Amino acid sequence: MQVDVLIRGDGAVGRSLALALSHQGLRVGLQGRAQARPQDVRAYALNAGAQALLRRLKVWDSLPPDAKTPVQDMQVFGDQEGGRLNFSAWQAHLAELAVIVDAAELDAALDAALRFAPHVQRVDGELPHALLALCEGREARGLEAHGIQVERRAYGHHALATRWVSDVPHQGRAWQWFGAGGDVLALLPLDRPTPGHSYAMVWSQPAEDALRRAALSPEALAAELQAATHQRAGHLQQVGAAQTWPLNLLRATPTVRPGLALLGDCAHQVHPLAGQGLNLGLADVAALAEVLAAREPWRPLGDLTLLRRYERQRALDTWMMATVTDGLWHGFAHGAPWARVARNQGLALVDALGPLKRWFTQQALGHRASAPSSNASNAARPTP
Ligand SMILES: Cc1cc2nc3c(=O)[nH]c(=O)nc-3n(C[C@H](O)[C@H](O)[C@H](O)COP(=O)(O)OP(=O)(O)OC[C@H]3O[C@@H](n4cnc5c(N)ncnc54)[C@H](O)[C@@H]3O)c2cc1C
Repeated sequence: MQVDVLIRGDGAVGRSLALALSHQGLRVGLQGRAQARPQDVRAYALNAGAQALLRRLKVWDSLPPDAKTPVQDMQVFGDQEGGRLNFSAWQAHLAELAVIVDAAELDAALDAALRFAPHVQRVDGELPHALLALCEGREARGLEAHGIQVERRAYGHHALATRWVSDVPHQGRAWQWFGAGGDVLALLPLDRPTPGHSYAMVWSQPAEDALRRAALSPEALAAELQAATHQRAGHLQQVGAAQTWPLNLLRATPTVRPGLALLGDCAHQVHPLAGQGLNLGLADVAALAEVLAAREPWRPLGDLTLLRRYERQRALDTWMMATVTDGLWHGFAHGAPWARVARNQGLALVDALGPLKRWFTQQALGHRASAPSSNASNAARPTP
């Protein structure tokens, strides 16, 4: 058997790519790892571009309504009085800032869509192929053997994720606290398990703190969370397990070679403080699908000139996001008193300058400045 594209790695990026390419009539082999994984407790903040791609792949509309919660408003706090920033969809002329999607439901919806994809076969070994798409995510190993250079830097922090139910309604508001030493705590509004009252938490912190907190009883963890949030999101009760992820910055260059393309976390990993990793990966999928669909009839799928069009489309976006998130994290991790004053005044300054804040909102959330609504705006313009 032979396939047009062999996709190695079946995370959200690999499976979305398989769907996008199968819609073009390409024969796709999808390689995953056979091991069973615990159910993902995360929720993703997905931007307009990611939503548009998933809608085209018939995944978005098949998600249960309570698995996707629009964010209307976001409150960001620094580590000093006055360091505060508010983003509002209404002020930015957007239907919503982002949509928070239950990760386990997204997994299930992608799997369901793949069952109906006519040209995708699950495979466990090598197959002759014209193009190899590496979507191995954070487990990618041996990229150097393909002639790829990898810049990898561990933050020394882990993200601790779990779910909470509050006694006060979330009203579509997300919360984020930047603490001393690079701690970042986010509470993202969700409608499950309790509609209107649930939050997905991502708390990035030194690895030893994250592992200690992951082992705490729900009551003890709740007490530490209440202290960190000053009860702004109400009285919180933990629901389900806590999971941790080590955090790295990763940049692979080049992201294409003859017959090879890298996508998603395999090509770039960013700190989750801006909730952008999967958005970047899905924008990679949209861009590669678009480039392959628009190729000259005589050009093979693995042609380097063709693949460089994909690389060029994605280079600036991924470089910017990695640089901005890394810079922000280092700005908040810096212990000097002057740095503390500067970062908190910086938050207050952005908050005060309407046009600057609007620009930040639109860039970070995948909206174009003139976009009338999230449905029409699509940073990546996918044509799967
Ligand atoms: C706590 C946390 C919160 C986050 N929140 C957000 C958010 O709000 N918004 C957002 O956009 N992003 C977020 N992200 C980032 C997002 O999770 C990742 O960017 C995204 O999951 C990457 O998807 P992927 O498919 O590239 O990689 P992965 O999810 O790592 O999937 C890769 C898959 O490939 C398989 N694999 C690896 N090697 C092989 C091989 N050789 N053969 C076969 N299979 C293989 C692996 O088993 C895995 O299943 C968050 C990340 C973390 C840690």
